[in-house]
Amino acid sequence: MKTTLDLTRVPDTPMALKPLAGLSMTALQAEMEALGVESGKTRMRARQLRRWLHHFGATDFAGMTDIGKELRARLAATYHLDRPDIAEHKVSVDGTQKWLIRFQPGVEGESVFIPAVSKTGALCVSSQVGCTLNCTFCHTGTQKLVRNLSAQEIVSQILIARDALGEWPSTTEDRGLSNIVFMGMGEPLYNLDNVAEAIDTLSDGEGISISRRRITVSTAGVAPKIPELGQRTGAMLAISLHAVHDDLRSEIVPINRKYDLQTLFEAIRAYPDLGNARRVTFEYVMLKGVNDSLAEARDLVRLLRGVPSKINLIPFNPWPGSPYECSDWDTIEAFADVLKRAGYASPIRTPRGRDIFAACGQLRSESIKTSAADRRRAAAVAG
Ligand code: SAH
Repeated sequence: MKTTLDLTRVPDTPMALKPLAGLSMTALQAEMEALGVESGKTRMRARQLRRWLHHFGATDFAGMTDIGKELRARLAATYHLDRPDIAEHKVSVDGTQKWLIRFQPGVEGESVFIPAVSKTGALCVSSQVGCTLNCTFCHTGTQKLVRNLSAQEIVSQILIARDALGEWPSTTEDRGLSNIVFMGMGEPLYNLDNVAEAIDTLSDGEGISISRRRITVSTAGVAPKIPELGQRTGAMLAISLHAVHDDLRSEIVPINRKYDLQTLFEAIRAYPDLGNARRVTFEYVMLKGVNDSLAEARDLVRLLRGVPSKINLIPFNPWPGSPYECSDWDTIEAFADVLKRAGYASPIRTPRGRDIFAACGQLRSESIKTSAADRRRAAAVAG
């Protein structure tokens, strides 16, 4: 076969098209410049595209009636509006949905939509594929970091969920996808530039239009980045606390060896606009015999004194080979009672989508209610 290349010839196969949906305004404008749009018009074109892509959820250029035919053709020859491939999509009997998204071959991440009892619901998104943190109870912690997700890839998780829920345009009333939580795979504060750019796009009132107050970023405790997160994004803060003393926390959340509880809480207190209307969420995974004593519940209350906070007790979801068990239901309730008496309302998070293993980061879930029922059944058999 002849292998000489004719460099003057335009190739028959077009260059790979680039994805356009999910880009920030700045990135869209840069693309319009690169495409050769007149310099005075790049912003106007970016705004038009934002409206089609992020307000209407457009998946083709043909319907973009305020953009001339010639430019539409040029756009279609350079970009595509496809979402990343969906490797797997599961819907639970309780309405929870989970997607395994293939951002590129070998780079797969999860997002999970969790409908609330009312019309609202949260999408749990990933910020990295894999993780560097090695928290001992977390399944993602057993996987090496593959890479950071780009801002566009983070936003694409919301586009995919909106497509499935049929919630375009963005002004649709009673949107099911009302909140976003960065509690999927990865440590968002180790990918802060992309997370901040994604939050700009998600909260843009002319686009996807999810308010910053409905976007929560969860961190294992990258203390120096916490105030910066608030300044750059205006998002709500969640802290994966899981232990109230440094020795235990350093064991189960190893980043505590770098930023101990005192350093962490100084950073939390510096989070902008904290007050009763704007509280920090503390997540606390219930590990049997490890962190679930009543003394620890009381120390938790003491630790949070002076910080406007909410507490989420999370029943541990076992995964194959995990070194822990979930605390007994009675223990979780007793722990929660200490918190309730200190003024924290209903802090136990009910696992959802257990039939599709939908908790983020492959946290294969068993409902605490089921385990309580199982336990009662077991007790009945035994006794
Ligand atoms: N790195 C960030 C974002 C990941 S979300 C962070 O640590 O906050 C991580 C949350 O998932 C943790 O707060 C924890 O509550 C939850 N999680 C991880 N593994 C879990 C497991 N096996 N069972 C229950 N919750 C788990």
